[in-house]
Amino acid sequence: MSERVLTVEDLDVTYHVRSGALPALRGVSFELHRGEILGIVGESGCGKSTLSASLLRLLPANGEISGGRILLGDRDVTTMSHRELRAMRGREIAMIFQDPLTSLNPTFRVGTQLVAAQQAHRGGEGDRDRTSEFRRRAIEMLTTVGLPDAQERIDYFPHQFSGGMRQRIMIAMALLLKPDLLIADEATSALDVTLQAQILELFRELRQERDTSMVFISHDIGVISEICDRLVVMYAGRAVEQGTVREVLSDPKHPYTQALLASVPSKDRRGERLATIPGRVPSLSELPPGCDFAERCPQVQSVCREPVLEGVHTADRMVRCLIHDPTSDYDASQVTLVGQAAVQAKQEATGEEPERTIGEVLVRARDLQVHFPDRHTLASRILRKKLGAVRAVDGIDLEIHRGEIVGLVGESGSGKTTLGRAILGLEPATGGEISYDGQDLTAMGPRELLRLRRRMQMIFQDAHASLSPRRRVGQLLTEPYVIHDIP
Ligand code: ATP
Ligand code: MG
Repeated sequence: MSERVLTVEDLDVTYHVRSGALPALRGVSFELHRGEILGIVGESGCGKSTLSASLLRLLPANGEISGGRILLGDRDVTTMSHRELRAMRGREIAMIFQDPLTSLNPTFRVGTQLVAAQQAHRGGEGDRDRTSEFRRRAIEMLTTVGLPDAQERIDYFPHQFSGGMRQRIMIAMALLLKPDLLIADEATSALDVTLQAQILELFRELRQERDTSMVFISHDIGVISEICDRLVVMYAGRAVEQGTVREVLSDPKHPYTQALLASVPSKDRRGERLATIPGRVPSLSELPPGCDFAERCPQVQSVCREPVLEGVHTADRMVRCLIHDPTSDYDASQVTLVGQAAVQAKQEATGEEPERTIGEVLVRARDLQVHFPDRHTLASRILRKKLGAVRAVDGIDLEIHRGEIVGLVGESGSGKTTLGRAILGLEPATGGEISYDGQDLTAMGPRELLRLRRRMQMIFQDAHASLSPRRRVGQLLTEPYVIHDIP
């Protein structure tokens, strides 16, 4: 067996909140070997990001590793001093965060950050003279991850990039460091399929070249199946199933894994109601005794609600479910519907989707243009008398009818978000027209726009950038009522 790079033993993580202590991870164990890529899947809120942050001891201030060990080689990360931690984070482990805006510093140009990361990584003050080399490498790497005009754009600030581009900047940073261990939390989820494939190839090359081990967190089963060797399925803070990717995906044993795989959307099932798992992940403050999935499980029996539930291990496989525990009182003959069939049956019982009707035109864009002035450095501003511009949206004609859902697809950086913002009047149009319900948006003053915004809403790509961290969820949700004076 190859060298063990990371061993997580019985890891518990607790978040301390006003109402008490939330057990976000409970008894999570797994191993990662040299050159191996371990996938982690599970619904939102199951603890994937908590797990990746705890591996680097980067939990938020109210998070605590409350039990277990994390061994990096034979050193225990949970007891390392801050100094050891800093050295380790710089040199051995790199992390790509789920939320690139929180990890790129908004006040520094991207190039500065990419150079600084390489300097810190190699750890020498002497490396200061290698700035131009580091900068050249950074430009090369940005080009490799598919960023157009890297030479010029390296001096932009993070907010001047699209969401997918920011994600690629993070990826470039991680790849530049050539780490022994890479933790990627939803690293490619904002990218379109072609770019995603390209980036996955880069990860594979890194592994080939350096024997890098990776923890790869994704909600995308397709990506997981393509790149990972082994898989951990998480549910409500526990690992519920583990095994090789091939085994787990082709023969899922835990009813949760089965349901999760059944709900992957597919082109072939277009128009059908999407399969979902009924109910939701239990609240961490009211976890049920016994199996956490019991409430939603189509195969549940009364024994499942009794407190003891150990993982069942066979060879390289672990399943935390009594169905697979020969010593339990679970009686398979009592179950009529199994796995996917039951989930689908529940769905069918909830009824057909009502027929949709498409009405008259609500939004109309004509030759819409949004250009951003290209003013990255003072020098280039002086040298090139005429300012260039990034033509984010350039001559779009679009009609959206009442009750219609219009899909907008395109590669990362192709202008999807900017177009969405322009339609709502959040980004001033450089040219062209937009009308909403017959009213010309481009001619409106701020007051009229505000009134109109009551009727149109945007869900932003980057939640962190659009929710103020200083406000509680309750305040954020009630604010629109106040602004728009809705009783
Ligand atoms: P997603 O797929 O949405 O990224 P995730 O699996 O990464 O989800 P986590 O971010 O690890 O989930 O969250 C796990 C649980 O811990 C959730 O219930 C979440 O509300 C809670 N949690 C996360 N951060 C904190 C915090 N700072 N304080 C309190 N609870 C937290
Ligand atoms: Mg997460």
